Amino acid sequence: MDFSYRMQTQIEFGDGRAAKLADDLSLLFKPGESLMVVTDPGVLQTGMFEPLLQMLHKARYQVALFSDVKPNPRDEDCLRGAALMREQNVSAVVAVGGGSAMDTAKTIALLGRSGGVPREYADGERLYEEVAPIICLPTTAGTGSEVTRSAVITEHATHRKMTLKHERLRPTLAILDPLLTRSVPPSVTAATGVDALVHAIEGATCRLSTPLSRAFGEQAMQLIVPSLRRAVACGEDLDARRAMLEGSLLAGLSFGSTDVAAVHCLAEALGGLYDTPHGVANAVFLPSVLHFNAEAYPVLHARLARVMNFASTADSDQLAVAKLLDGIRAWTAELGIPKLRDLASVRVEDFEHLADLAFQNGSTKSNVRPVTREDYQ
Ligand code: NAD
Repeated sequence: MDFSYRMQTQIEFGDGRAAKLADDLSLLFKPGESLMVVTDPGVLQTGMFEPLLQMLHKARYQVALFSDVKPNPRDEDCLRGAALMREQNVSAVVAVGGGSAMDTAKTIALLGRSGGVPREYADGERLYEEVAPIICLPTTAGTGSEVTRSAVITEHATHRKMTLKHERLRPTLAILDPLLTRSVPPSVTAATGVDALVHAIEGATCRLSTPLSRAFGEQAMQLIVPSLRRAVACGEDLDARRAMLEGSLLAGLSFGSTDVAAVHCLAEALGGLYDTPHGVANAVFLPSVLHFNAEAYPVLHARLARVMNFASTADSDQLAVAKLLDGIRAWTAELGIPKLRDLASVRVEDFEHLADLAFQNGSTKSNVRPVTREDYQ
């Protein structure tokens, strides 16, 4: 098949690499220029944040701090950030945080330069004319947003989770420092890690998959499955944290050039409606979607089972698929991820609406097996 691959992001990976942030920035911006740092209240409270801020002050950058990021970030907060960006004449936006901070930063960088509201971009009503440079320091190992061209923002008034997608949203620089992820609590480590695995699976198997997305995705699966348990059990296990950050990066490179698929469509519907953490929302749907897809594509899923070491080459394809489904269920249970029925806010009366929302998601078309609204329900 024909395929193309585009990646403008410079990637820097290493223990302690964030300590060189000011050196990296000095190649792009002059002292005295104004930088906007975007983070969330949880990250702000960790010990990692203050030294980074001090480093920017020491390098004589003007810093505009925006820390009002919420999980499942909202359009109205991005608008306030964009207003601050224009007021302070900001040259670039630096995100320190998980997917929520990175996606907020991307959207602020867009709205601050090109105006409008997030929905207009998600619905194709406005062009992505100009976006300020974006620098990302991920502090969770999950979304891969540091290398993707998308930002997921919730329209607060309608609870609709929207995806803004354009090459201009891809960060200029991504600094991945495993030390920044050591303070992530076990439940967030588990949920974000499952999100990364779903990116790897969907990037490697969706209808738009390419040899590159399969290579990145499969390597990511091999890193994530054994390492996530260890990172959840012991946050200070630096080998596990390193493998997880590498895995989430590779997963981001996989789906970031292709697409996500049905698990994400359901998860975004759930997250928009009930504010469910994104990784948990993905995890609750993963086994059922794998089951649905494997019925139609057993050979592909037998391969996934072997790549993730849930089955061996000695197993028949049928047995390998069964082992994949059992293995994934046991793996998420061991990680302490709740089931759909355990999520207190979810109501059966909403299932039709959830199925509608998932079906309207543009990534539905990318699922390897065609999905109908009824299948979702
Ligand atoms: P998150 O950014 O919402 O963070 C979850 C929690 O972890 C927050 O409370 C935060 O304060 C805390 N936290 C983050 N880093 C920490 C650290 N080092 N120490 C202690 N606490 C820390 O979670 P996330 O899963 O990284 O991001 C989820 C968002 O990303 C969702 O909105 C999802 O839709 C979006 N997403 C975007 C993309 C993309 O390509 N743009 C891909 C997947 C998901």
